[in-house]
Amino acid sequence: MLRDEQIIFRQLFDRTSCTYSYVLGCARTREAVLIDPVFAHHQRDMALLQELELKLVAVLDTHVHADHITGAWLAREATGCRIALAKVADGPLVDFPLVDGDSIPYGDRMLRTRATPGHTNGCLSYVDNDARFVFTGDALMIRGTGRTDFQEGSAAGLYESIQEQLFSLPDDCVVLPGHDYSGRATSTIGEERSFNPRIGGGASTTDFVGHLENLDLPHPQHIDAAVPANLQSGRPPDGTYPTLGTWAPLTITYAGIPEITAQWLAANRNRVHLIDVRESNELTGTLGALSGVRHIPLDRFRDEVASLPTDLPIVVICRSGRRSGLAVKIMQSTHRTDVANLRGGMLEWRKKIGSAKS
Ligand code: FE
Repeated sequence: MLRDEQIIFRQLFDRTSCTYSYVLGCARTREAVLIDPVFAHHQRDMALLQELELKLVAVLDTHVHADHITGAWLAREATGCRIALAKVADGPLVDFPLVDGDSIPYGDRMLRTRATPGHTNGCLSYVDNDARFVFTGDALMIRGTGRTDFQEGSAAGLYESIQEQLFSLPDDCVVLPGHDYSGRATSTIGEERSFNPRIGGGASTTDFVGHLENLDLPHPQHIDAAVPANLQSGRPPDGTYPTLGTWAPLTITYAGIPEITAQWLAANRNRVHLIDVRESNELTGTLGALSGVRHIPLDRFRDEVASLPTDLPIVVICRSGRRSGLAVKIMQSTHRTDVANLRGGMLEWRKKIGSAKS
C-alpha cells in the first residue's frame, strides 16, 4: 500500500502491545517523521532510518499512550529531531505543542493535525496534505475505535471526532491506526464508514455511546507506569541514553545484527577473539585473512558454537558480512550477547584498512 514516488512509507509493529509505528519520508529531500515509536524498538527504528538514508525532523505521538512507552525522547537524543504532541497534554519535553490545524512539514510534503479527542482528551490524527492517508492513533481503528473510559475519555466526544474530523475525509483515504490486535494493517475511510461495528453504517451517538459504555474492558495493564513515562516523552527517570554494548561502539542493523566497523576492529584487535567463517580456499585467496583468526567454516559453526571462548567478545568475519551475520545470529541464539559482525566483511576491511596480510 501507499506507493508513491514522492514518499517513503514503512509500517512497523510491536508484538507486545500490538502498536503500529510509522516512518514517513520525503523521497527527494530524505526528511522524515516517525509516528508513535515504541521505546523497546528504538534501535530497530533508528537502523531503518539510517539504512534508508532518512533524516528525522520530528517524532509525533498521536496521544499519551497507556499501553506502551514512547520512543520519542530516545529518537530526539539520537537524531536531534523535534518532539511533537498535543498541546493539551502539557508534556515538559515537547518542542512542538500541537493543536488542530497545525502543519508538520517533512521535505516537500506535510501532515496536518486534526483534533480527534474522545479516547483521550489530547488525541490527534495526522492527515497527509493530499488527504490520501491518515494516521488515526486510537481514535478510529480498523473495525474498531479506542476505548473512552480513561484519560479524560468521552464516548460522545469520540463519536463527534470520528464523524466530523475523520469521516469527512475522502472515501479512499487510507486509515493507518495506532494498533491492531487481529493482524489487520490498513483500511479506508469509506470502508470504516460502512462497516465499522461501532460507528459505521449510520450509527447514531446513542448507538455508539451505548456500545462503548457496555464494553466491560479490563483495567489497562500498564497505564500506571506508561502514562507518567509518556508525559515525559519516554525519557528514562535517570535521563541516560541506553548503550548497546559496553565493549564496543556497536550499531544494530534493521535485520537485528550488531556490527562494528573495520576501523574500530583495526584499533582494538587484541580486545576480541576473531572468527572467520569463510571456506578454507577463501582465506588464502586475494582478500587474504586477518592474522590470529580462528577459522570455523559456517557449515561447522553450529557444532562448534558451544566451544567458543568466553573470556573476550567475539567478532565474526566473512567476505561481505552476510555469512558472518548468520554466525552472529547463531551465537545470539545461545544467549551470548558480546558478539558482533564485522560490517562489510573482508571487502570493507581491504577498502578501509588496506593490506590483506595485516
Ligand atoms: Fe491509546
